[in-house]
This record gives sequence, structure tokens and C-alpha cells, in this order.
Amino acid sequence: MQRRRNVKIVATLGPASNDYDTIRKLFETGADVFRINMSHGTHEEHRARHEMIRRVERDLGRPIAILADLQGPKLRCGVFASGAADLEEGQSFRFDLDKTPGDSHRVRLPHKEIFDALEPGSTLLVNDGKIRLRVDDNGEDYANCTVMVGGTISDRKGVNVPDVVLPVAALSEKDREDLEFACELGVDWLALSFVQRAADVEEARRLANGRAAVLSKIEKPAAVKAFDEILAVSDGIMIARGDLGVELPVQNVPPIQKRLTHVCRAAAKPVIVATQMLESMIESPVPTRAEVSDVANAIYEGADAVMLSAESAAGNYPIEAVMTMVNVAVEVEGDPTYRRVIEASRIIDRRTVADGLVSAAREIAEATDIKAICCFTQSGTTALLTARERPRVPILALTPLEGTARRLCLSWGISCHITSDTVDRFKLAVVSAARAARASGIVSEEDQIVVTAGVPFNVPGTTNILRVAPCAERLIFATDPE
Ligand code: PGA
Ligand code: MN
Repeated sequence: MQRRRNVKIVATLGPASNDYDTIRKLFETGADVFRINMSHGTHEEHRARHEMIRRVERDLGRPIAILADLQGPKLRCGVFASGAADLEEGQSFRFDLDKTPGDSHRVRLPHKEIFDALEPGSTLLVNDGKIRLRVDDNGEDYANCTVMVGGTISDRKGVNVPDVVLPVAALSEKDREDLEFACELGVDWLALSFVQRAADVEEARRLANGRAAVLSKIEKPAAVKAFDEILAVSDGIMIARGDLGVELPVQNVPPIQKRLTHVCRAAAKPVIVATQMLESMIESPVPTRAEVSDVANAIYEGADAVMLSAESAAGNYPIEAVMTMVNVAVEVEGDPTYRRVIEASRIIDRRTVADGLVSAAREIAEATDIKAICCFTQSGTTALLTARERPRVPILALTPLEGTARRLCLSWGISCHITSDTVDRFKLAVVSAARAARASGIVSEEDQIVVTAGVPFNVPGTTNILRVAPCAERLIFATDPE
């Protein structure tokens, strides 16, 4: 069951995909990573999902990554006496801390720290940006605003404050509990919502303490500004276009997507392009042409992964949505233009032995008839560097660590094999790599592979060997010096 594509697919689970058969079908169709959205559902529901995914993993004998997406400091207004209120352009409207239910003149905004951070002229957005207000004056417990774009505001609607770095903790009390719960379950990735600064990510890293890799969702203008520092302390990035397109003018999102995708590849860290990719497939079995084009363009840009949200979590066609992404990926990756773009945007970075070695592995594989690059990896770094090269041949990562294999499921072009043989001599490593490559169907007996590894074995950060090896076992033993 070797995938015929390099880009990975993240599928969010929800009511539409809550049983073993659907999860298994999603994986078999092409989902590589399952996202559990902590904004919805109970811990017991998440535990059940987690168990079903791990059962699919066991039954199919293939590593699967699980990503737990933390809600983050999402601001919400209070409730209204009649459930909702209509705001008209030009009228004034007040946010305050008063618990009395709201009306068309005021409502509670139960986040005291926000009022201090606002300034006259700041923008407040309600209900995914549909309603827009400008702050006229504010004090420590109120903000008087003018409605710039009107609409209906109702109970507990989300409030965005795009142009202010909010003095709120990156992780709410709920996030901390969810983080601990997810780490105890054994998820592979944590996604942090509404990251504003590198310190937010560092805090989550401290709490996760190596139990899960940490991915930052870029959905605030402040995160776009501080992107380099945020990337430096993150293991991966999600371009969360939903909220990003609320907090910034929507037309700013595509250039940001292109730039961030490129920077992530340069840093050899996986990047997910997310939100509304196949939105119409929530209700329709076929996507719009524009959606197909959007998925294709993310792949042309070199994204590691494309993501489904409501399409797979709450839509009527979760399997069809994954299938659509697979079909688009196979078509794009077979296009000579794709190869040209990918080659032209390759980042040449040969500062370390590992950098030079992975680039040599790619060049040798591409210049000859070699069928795969097999890399032994502990932390996953060598596999990530190999993926940054975006080679034409498949990358097979061999690792004794289940956690490493699972995390790598998010990265471009990497398939993983968990080595159970204790590999302490290089000849045995080559044998084990050739065996895994043959078993996965990417090579046959007559083929050759490139093997990269670090000796001594099982020590992270030592990649120092590159070997071109035959795939037939008798030839390995006949030709290998050690
Ligand atoms: P969300 O994040 O689905 O958790 O809101 C994605 C986005 O904002 O695009
Ligand atoms: Mn979001």
C-alpha cells in the first residue's frame, strides 16, 4: 500500500468520521494524518477517536500521525437578552464587563485584559469578520465603538482583534488541560491556535516536554510579523487561512501562504496549508474548479501537507474529499512544470555534514538509475533534510522509534518503516533497508538504493555515511566491505 504521491493529507475527524470503518477508509484512501479538534467534543470522545486510529494503525501495520489541535485564546462575547441583536452601520455599540445580557447597544466581553490593550482606532471583528467595529474610546472595563459593517451578533460569537498583540496567555486553562490529556493519550503533534509570539510556543514545548512535536498555527498578523522567531522554536507550521483571512484582508493570504511555505521548506520543517480547501464538498460530491486549483497550487508551491477540516469532520463526503486531494496530487506531481518549480525553489544549504550528505544522496539517485533513498534516522532530522531536497525518488525513513515514524507522516515524500532488527553494523543496516524497500514495493531485486546512516548507530545527529547498495541480499553480502 505504498502511496503514489509525495504531498501528505491531513483529515480532521468529527461527527462524519467517528467510527473505525470510516477512519480506516479515510486512511486507505489517502489520509496520512488525523486531526482531532479540541475546540469540539469531550475528552472521552477524543480518547475513543485516538483508540480507533491506533487500531487502524495496528491492523494495517503502518504508522499514522495524530495531531491534537488546541483551541487557544479564542475571544467570545457574552449573551443577549433575546439571543441576538442587529447592528446597523454608523450606530454606536459598547463592549463591557457587565454580566447583564446584551441588547443592540451593548454586550459583555468577558476578557478584561483586552480593554487595556485596545486603542482608539483599533478594529474589533465579530462572527468570522462579518461585523466590523472601530474603537472610539476605551477604559479598563469598556470600549465604545462605531459599527463600520453591520450585521447580526448573537450569543457567544467569536471576537477577533487583529491589530493588537493581546496580553493574553497563549494557553488558556482549558488548553493546558487539553494539552496534558492529549500528551497522556500519546498524540504525535500538538497544534497551537492564535500563536502571537515565540514565547507562546516555548511555553507549550515546556509543557509537552518532548511527548509531542509542536506545530504553530499562523492565524494572527502578529504571528506573520514574528514568523522567523516562531518557526525557530516550532517543529512545524499550519497556515490557518480561516482566521488569518479574518484578521487580515483576504487578499493578503495567498502571498503569505507562498512566502511561509518557502521559508518552512528552507528550514526543513513541515508546513500544512489549511482551511476551505474543498469547502463545497461538505455538501457536494464534486469540488468547484477553483477549489481544485487551490489544492493544486498549494502542492505546486511545495507544501508538505494539505488539510481537510469540516469536509472530513462534518461533511457528507469525507472519503470523496480525500480522494479528490489524492487525484489532484497525483496529477500535479506528474506534471513536468511541478518538477521545474520544485527544482528552481530548492534551497542549497550545505553548512553541515548532514546537509551535504542528503544533497549528495539526491544527486546520485537522480543522476543514475537508483530507485529510492533509504535513511536511518533517530530524531527524524536526516529524513526531514532529505525531504527538503524534494528528490524524484521515494524517501524511506528507517527508525527504531515509533514516535519518530509517526511524526514524519506529516512531511513531504517520507514513508516510514520501524526497524525492529537491532542494527549495529552497517552491513545489517543495508540489508534491513533493502528488505524494507522491497517490502514496500518501491524497488525490486535488480534495483539499487542509496542508504544514508550515522555510525555509531542509535545516536542522534551523527549522519555520516552514504552507500549505494544493491537490493538483492546475496549481492549485499558479496559486495559490502563490512
Ligand atoms: P481552526 O483553524 O479550524 O481551528 O479555526 C484553522 C483556521 O483558522 O484556518
Ligand atoms: Mn483558526
